[in-house]
Amino acid sequence: LDLPQPELVEDEADVFITGTGLLNQWKWPTIDGLHNFKGVLLHTANWDDTFDPTDKSVAIIGAGSSGIQVVPALASKVKAMHHYVRGKTWISNQLSEDILKAGTSDNERTNFDYHESEKELWKADRRSYIEYRKSLEFRLQGQYEITRPDSLRHITARANYEKSMRERLKMKPEIIGKLIPDFPPLCKRLTPGPGYLEALTASHVELITQSIAHIDAEGITTSEGVRRPVDAIICATGFDTSPGQGFPIYGRDGVNLREKYAARPKTYLSLCTDNFPNFFQSLGPHAFQGAGNLLIMMEAIHKYMAKILRRLAYGNIRTIEPKQKQVESFTNYCDEYFQNTVYNADCVSWYKSVVSNISGEKTQRVTALWPGSSTHAVHALESVKWEDFNMETCDGNDFGWFGNGGTVAENGLNHVASLDGEEAAHIVEALTWYLNGTRYLHEPL
Ligand SMILES: Cc1cc2nc3c(=O)[nH]c(=O)nc-3n(C[C@H](O)[C@H](O)[C@H](O)COP(=O)(O)OP(=O)(O)OC[C@H]3O[C@@H](n4cnc5c(N)ncnc54)[C@H](O)[C@@H]3O)c2cc1C
Repeated sequence: LDLPQPELVEDEADVFITGTGLLNQWKWPTIDGLHNFKGVLLHTANWDDTFDPTDKSVAIIGAGSSGIQVVPALASKVKAMHHYVRGKTWISNQLSEDILKAGTSDNERTNFDYHESEKELWKADRRSYIEYRKSLEFRLQGQYEITRPDSLRHITARANYEKSMRERLKMKPEIIGKLIPDFPPLCKRLTPGPGYLEALTASHVELITQSIAHIDAEGITTSEGVRRPVDAIICATGFDTSPGQGFPIYGRDGVNLREKYAARPKTYLSLCTDNFPNFFQSLGPHAFQGAGNLLIMMEAIHKYMAKILRRLAYGNIRTIEPKQKQVESFTNYCDEYFQNTVYNADCVSWYKSVVSNISGEKTQRVTALWPGSSTHAVHALESVKWEDFNMETCDGNDFGWFGNGGTVAENGLNHVASLDGEEAAHIVEALTWYLNGTRYLHEPL
């Protein structure tokens, strides 16, 4: 529904699935006086394309994934840039930098150009295309081992990131110590940020690590009492990712999912929870990935849901929900799992939130991430463990899934006049599909 005006609409369905995303409720930072500012005030997730930064003094607050992209994008245009950074951050090398450089036509551009000859080759030879993609994907999947702080890959990666950061900041060595973190890489989202560190070494770009005390109509004052006037403030301060955010969803006994998650986000494999029958969510708590391919995980989550929907559609099942014991088991497992990963280190990250632990004490827990690699997620979600679910039949008949002995296709024969036409072709297919894989005896298997 895309309603032009707010309107109360009542709707009904057998199943409710949310796909409302995780990184789209952008939020202003809570800084005293932020909205008293009379210049241009922007959030990176709500950009104004008419904003012209040319020759302006611009403050950029935040050095997360957005901040480190907006700094190099604007640095060459502005008169002065004040970059307010609350914490330190690892800046990695670009993944597959060698391939990227080889495929980029000039130094100014960081987007990738594929040559026509490559495209033609891949069109003609599917295997070489897949091999190329595998070579890229292999490097991405190889990041997972970096999440284990004692692994050789982690130790090597950390040393490489530090070496590269020192090299890229060598024109302004005084800021090196302000940027290289004490916590391990990947504890907070690791982003390459091409050009970010180089931009920070420019003479008109100032890195400010003192906290912001307040903002007035024309400028920003830090906790040390230094006031810097600016023409524009850009907040690269991220999204509301707290597990309790979002519109209320009520389950059995009127329990509000958001309140349940705000207390302790307990799910079964990230995609459903007990006492919320026929409710599923994409990118729920523990669905995200910190070192791998999120897309294949989301596909696996959706395929998993599709298998459940199929059972609801054809299996005489009215309601399905995960067993509370398995919801507890998955959530407790997540707590244990993250103890031995970089995510548990002392860093500020949207992967974490302050919620109850197993003993009911409020503490920082990793609540956004899947407890494992993305390939682990795909395997774990391959088949539905029906024994982990409680199901209610439509009519109380546990054998009702068996039907009445016939199939829809046979019944369809009563409704088509002749065996010509599209409808008839469907019926023929539905009654003879098992011949489609026919092979000759002399063919190799
Ligand atoms: C700066 C940034 C960089 C990223 N980089 C990467 C990357 O490199 N690789 C990667 O894999 N992922 C990346 N991500 C994450 C990726 O964008 C998300 O994981 C992905 O978009 C999730 O898809 P989705 O469809 O679940 O949610 P979304 O794309 O967020 O879509 C959710 C939709 O639901 C709508 N919606 C929300 N609430 C309501 C409501 N109440 N009523 C109606 N509609 C509603 C929203 O408006 C939105 O259209 C990045 C995200 C950000 C913000």
